[in-house]
Amino acid sequence: MRNANEQSAKFYRQILGRRFPVSHQRAMQREIHEHLLLNSSNVRSVNFDVISAADLGMLFQLTDELFFDGTIGRFVESNFNKPLTFRLSTRMTTAGGTTTMATRPGVSRRETEFEIAIATTPLFSSFKFEQHANVGGVRCDSRLEALQRIMEHEVIHLVELLGTADSNCQAKPFRALVRNYFGHKESNHQLMTPSDFARKQLGIRCGDAVTFSIRGERYRGVVNRITKRATVLVKDPRGIEYSDGHRYSKFYVPLPQLRRA
Ligand SMILES: [Zn+2]
Repeated sequence: MRNANEQSAKFYRQILGRRFPVSHQRAMQREIHEHLLLNSSNVRSVNFDVISAADLGMLFQLTDELFFDGTIGRFVESNFNKPLTFRLSTRMTTAGGTTTMATRPGVSRRETEFEIAIATTPLFSSFKFEQHANVGGVRCDSRLEALQRIMEHEVIHLVELLGTADSNCQAKPFRALVRNYFGHKESNHQLMTPSDFARKQLGIRCGDAVTFSIRGERYRGVVNRITKRATVLVKDPRGIEYSDGHRYSKFYVPLPQLRRA
């Protein structure tokens, strides 16, 4: 047991000791991006519509090889009986991903199982109407970029679980790791689209009545769509007729200027 703990501590220390220049981080992230597009049978474009657990395995392996010299995979292989598993979760709606360590009382440490699950709902509901989203405080311009950032976050969870049998993305060591390895500016496993942002920060969603001011004039309308800006329809007799029989003018309003009516 003591030996196992020492091995975990050594593994963790090794990982803690490494740093990458930002340019190096970006180059490796880019390489993983290109490799996946070239080799995955599902991920053929940056805003892919289908993904499998095998693709997650490939993404993990690439991340492990380029950033950790494959030490994570080797550590799991030599210390545990079961291989690391990958799963697509259709249930999770708030987190982009989760990493779990499953142990049962009275069973040897070697029987511990590790799993990385990626949530499909936030991933596939973003980049439909929106051109960007945010994961870990990093702007992502495609579904593949968002997936990579989510995987990076989960990889650090796995590193902590393997090294210390515990993991907390709100704590300082995690924040330092995710920044040093992947350049994340915030530590959360959420995928935030502009409409998530509008809902969480401003309490505004599509269909809501809002007010806003342009050049000193105040308008009242309904949010029709949220991208970088909100599309707000304001009743206007000179506007275009919509399917509800009313005429509207369309305004593109920066999100922070909206107020709930
Ligand atoms: Zn987390």
